[in-house]
Amino acid sequence: MELLNSSFSEPKEFSRLIGLKGWNYKKAKRMEVVVVGCGGLGSPIARLISRFGIGKLTLIDNDIVEIENLNRDGFEIKDVGKNKAEVLKSKIENFFDSHPISIKAIPENVLNISVDEIVETADLVITATDTTNSRIYVNDVCIQHNTKMIDVGFTTDGLRGHVRLIIPGKTACLRCTYFELPSPEKTNLKDKLNLEKKTGYAISPAPTLTFLASLAAMMAFNVLFEISRLPSYISANLAEMKFSVVELKKNPKCEVC
Ligand SMILES: [Zn+2]
Repeated sequence: MELLNSSFSEPKEFSRLIGLKGWNYKKAKRMEVVVVGCGGLGSPIARLISRFGIGKLTLIDNDIVEIENLNRDGFEIKDVGKNKAEVLKSKIENFFDSHPISIKAIPENVLNISVDEIVETADLVITATDTTNSRIYVNDVCIQHNTKMIDVGFTTDGLRGHVRLIIPGKTACLRCTYFELPSPEKTNLKDKLNLEKKTGYAISPAPTLTFLASLAAMMAFNVLFEISRLPSYISANLAEMKFSVVELKKNPKCEVC
């Protein structure tokens, strides 16, 4: 194998990835991934994908860690009161000895910032946020810049969820299946920001979230290192331990893709 004989030496942290199909450190180090939402899903996703040896990670979340979040994997009592993106950045920065990973934490609601520049240069964007507006907004920007996206979500009963892959121009984007949405010009996603006040909470057992996070992280690995052709939608019903894979077709009437 070419890599095993390569004179290029990777940090020892990644020696147990050598030989893994598609992966090599040089390639990984050039990768740039954006994670939108750094809670119970986004936090394990970011921690897992950083273990691939990627060089640049952008974390976006305006939320603060609360006592109620401590049932989720990745948060500790000392994190309470701090911004989720900044907490995650400080944890990942302690993962490695000689691997330089550049992490930018943006403690803002994604709807309040322009993500064009961030998305344009990224190899992959992952949305793990609990609001539809945020994911649709990121979807639109990803399609515009031809950036691949993975969307992850779970149901309010805490037992089911999905991982979805969006390859602009090839697979269905989020708007292809949210039929009720008007065109981007009329949607004004950002104007709806104030309507996003939380009216309840999603039940969120840690294993559901980490299961979906692992699935999303492995899908990310597949996308970044081009391992195989992937399905565009995976749903997991963890109440009945049933899993399904669906190919979502592009909607010819979609306004963005
Ligand atoms: Zn579409």
